[in-house]
Amino acid sequence: MMNAMNGEQQGQTAVNTAIVGVDVGGTTITAMVVDATLQSRAQFTCPTDKRTPHSTLESIETAVYQALSQSGFSLNHISAIGIGIPGRVDPHEGVVHLAVNLNWDDMPAGAMLSAAFGGVPCYLENDLHLAALGYYTFFTTHTIQHMAYVSIGTGLAAGLILDGRLYRGAHGMAGEFGHMVVEPDGPRCNCGNHGCLEMYTAGPAIARAGQQAITAGLWEPGEEVERVTAVDVFRAAHQGNRAAQTIINHTGAYLGRGLQALIMAFDIDKIILGGGIARAGDMLRQAILREWQRQAELSTLAAEMLVAEKLDMAPSESNPGAWGGVALVRQRLLARTTPQLLITNHLKGGEVQAHA
Ligand SMILES: [Zn+2]
Repeated sequence: MMNAMNGEQQGQTAVNTAIVGVDVGGTTITAMVVDATLQSRAQFTCPTDKRTPHSTLESIETAVYQALSQSGFSLNHISAIGIGIPGRVDPHEGVVHLAVNLNWDDMPAGAMLSAAFGGVPCYLENDLHLAALGYYTFFTTHTIQHMAYVSIGTGLAAGLILDGRLYRGAHGMAGEFGHMVVEPDGPRCNCGNHGCLEMYTAGPAIARAGQQAITAGLWEPGEEVERVTAVDVFRAAHQGNRAAQTIINHTGAYLGRGLQALIMAFDIDKIILGGGIARAGDMLRQAILREWQRQAELSTLAAEMLVAEKLDMAPSESNPGAWGGVALVRQRLLARTTPQLLITNHLKGGEVQAHA
């Protein structure tokens, strides 16, 4: 699974015990246990119980304890737990200020989970930031230093790695380019604005376009109109339905322009497409590349910046969120235990990253 460790020197063994990485999603929670050599020993996924904030915390505990019991490790072997939360997180205080999908509001989840795990430190970070960190650390080569992990699901956002480090922004909001206004007269977004990019590119937008195609008599999916999802649109496009293919092309054109903005703003050298919609396959990537090609024919700058090699799909089994939890723990422990060593390595031109 792991063929490269980016941003961290191999052979440095400040972390001698097992680590747990957790990816908390709106529907499922995945916990993964890795040993001291960073081999995955167990992984467990369970549904997210969102009835109350407390029951959601219990789901996280369940996922971690189940993964642990399968791994052969116990809590005594665990140095720390790194957890990605879908919301606005203060990583230093371990407080989740707002997680709409979980109904969390100013939750000191880090301290609460640490107490539930017998005092094992629990480090929190925004889930998408963590996915970017995980992908960057474990799935890219050291030549990549400027990367965006773009998640396309119910919304659109990116986790950014700039100069080899996770870039959080002033309020932990870096990468929320799905709320870039691209059509001021467009449909109203959940954020209140009109015509945000994610209103044209995320799952609900694709589903809505599919439903409109059905209403217009362009597509007969054999399904009730209101139950048609983005996945159905992709399936129909794969089967050759013209209306569905047009929807994917439109989505790709908007995404192509949005990703062009990311590339131009930050001089990104690798974009990874992840999330539920990206899993629909290469069709979306091809639609994005067509938009890039259109721009490249007009502009030598675009031709230079928008090359197909910059755009990759995340492998569906890569689980970058949980790996990001592992990467976060290693960064925190290395920063805490070996500051002198880190400085020395920096002076030598080493690639150790000490910052979470
Ligand atoms: Zn918006």
